[in-house]
Amino acid sequence: MFTHTNEHFTPQEVALLTPFVTNVDRPVFCLRNLPEVVKGALFARYSRSTKSLRRLLLDEFITEPESGFAAIVSAVGDSPAAQLVAARQAEAFYERVLIGYGDDSVAELGGAHVACEGVSNIAAKLLEDSRLGLSPLEKSTRYVRFDLPGPDGYRYLREPVLMASPFAERYTATMDNLFATYSALLGPVQAWLQAQFPRDEATTPRAYRNAIQAKALDLLRGLLPMATQTNVGLFGNGRAFEYLIIKLAAAPFAEARALSEAIQTELDYVIPAFVKRARSERGKAYAAYLAATREQAAQCAAQLAIAPTNEPAIAVRLVDYDPQAEEKMVAAILYPHLDLPLDSILASISAMPAQERQAIIAAAVGERGSRFHRPGRAFEEPYYTFDILADIGAYRDLQRHRVLTQERQRFTVSHGYVTPPELERIGVAPQYRAALEQAAELVTDLQRDFPNEAQYAVPFAFRVRWRMKLNLREAYHLIELRSARQGHPAYRQIAQMMFQAISAVHPTLTAGMRFVDHHDYDLERLAAEQRIDQKRQGT
Ligand SMILES: Cc1cc2nc3c(=O)[nH]c(=O)nc-3n(C[C@H](O)[C@H](O)[C@H](O)COP(=O)(O)OP(=O)(O)OC[C@H]3O[C@@H](n4cnc5c(N)ncnc54)[C@H](O)[C@@H]3O)c2cc1C
Repeated sequence: MFTHTNEHFTPQEVALLTPFVTNVDRPVFCLRNLPEVVKGALFARYSRSTKSLRRLLLDEFITEPESGFAAIVSAVGDSPAAQLVAARQAEAFYERVLIGYGDDSVAELGGAHVACEGVSNIAAKLLEDSRLGLSPLEKSTRYVRFDLPGPDGYRYLREPVLMASPFAERYTATMDNLFATYSALLGPVQAWLQAQFPRDEATTPRAYRNAIQAKALDLLRGLLPMATQTNVGLFGNGRAFEYLIIKLAAAPFAEARALSEAIQTELDYVIPAFVKRARSERGKAYAAYLAATREQAAQCAAQLAIAPTNEPAIAVRLVDYDPQAEEKMVAAILYPHLDLPLDSILASISAMPAQERQAIIAAAVGERGSRFHRPGRAFEEPYYTFDILADIGAYRDLQRHRVLTQERQRFTVSHGYVTPPELERIGVAPQYRAALEQAAELVTDLQRDFPNEAQYAVPFAFRVRWRMKLNLREAYHLIELRSARQGHPAYRQIAQMMFQAISAVHPTLTAGMRFVDHHDYDLERLAAEQRIDQKRQGT
């Protein structure tokens, strides 16, 4: 099966096709060496043609002068400007093919890798607040030191609104102090960790050094403010980028709006046809709509007076779940294997003895060999809504889960900050606290005149509240991944608490979560680094 195709190409056609497809004689093949716009237009045509993809490529692109194919393909190695000229020349043709389909999903047929460098953590979180169609990767606060200065000093955003305000000097002095404290404490923290957890014979110096550095950087990351500049790489399709550009344009931060324009400019070089709607009237109207609805909701909230409550250091509260989740999930497990309507299946499940339901759940969970063995879609039936109050460092990590509904409140200093207990034991907690308290005073003063921009000055140690709504299947993934030994203790604790909260209401549904790690560890990265050594040594 799939070993040969009945389609015939002449030797001349084979020569024309070969640079652009991985084979010409089998029914499964990949496209290669083609610009995104050509691949997108080709796939769009595919959906409305009786011809095969290779035949379409030959007839409607390679040998069709109007397509501008030769100019576009030959410009691939040229300067971005030359590529743009070639793409523009062929634009009318591709517009006709792509937009002619009137289907928004054609913009998913071309993609790009975009690097956003020197963006603040406020902007990084906006970039990463994307779900379908975008895959972000960001410079890690665990593996990279953030105190190495750039040409202007420590690498944090000199936020333009704040820099034009009377707070400019205080802002830079406070940010500098946070970075200087981080820098000054790194040595003593590493030295203490080395003394406390000496290297044993079985651990290589490389693995040990990395584990110690990761732990030290984890302990001190709370000093980094949201203004900290980082690098984010995004891979995604045109449609996802279009929405991202619009969301950034609607954001209440000058940096985000500038980033929106910068991303549009660069994508115009590589996938112009797929993102052009972001800068159209339709895109602008959408951005205006997003900004207006946010503003209206904020005004509604401002009119409410709800009394605050006292919170524990880390609060993970399950505020909503479906009491009938078990019945619904069992019905969903059986549904694909029956030919009955869902409501009749549900009615019979409701009358079923509990033991029988549990046996069905156990059958659906099966013998999970590792956390990668995720149970099926029936596990998407139960939903859980959590309200979490934890340090921004933990939020930054957990926000990266894309298949959930997550929304945060403003970054503020009003919920206090978290001091890792190790810093108390090392004796550096007073310096840590002094830098955070100086930042807290600044944020409190900034908030009066600059409620949005004040968020740049909030260090990661401060707590933020966010809501997380997720289904059971994603809970399996998130809780098992985020409780794993190599994780940061802050989010490991949240994952463990989420498990306890779901188990308390639905013990039968969490029975299959076999890979939740409930232990505490001293050097979280050590086992992972030792595994890297074993792989390097081929053992
Ligand atoms: C120990 C550790 C270290 C990390 N280090 C870094 C780091 O240095 N830098 C960094 O930027 N991030 C880092 N991360 C975050 C990581 O890159 C992910 O963002 C995070 O784990 C959430 O993504 P996910 O795929 O696991 O889960 P979710 O986003 O919740 O997605 C759930 C599942 O859906 C599927 N899925 C979701 N979206 C897609 C998609 N677009 N394409 C295909 N499948 C998809 C996958 O199967 C995925 O596991 C780290 C995470 C961990 C646990």
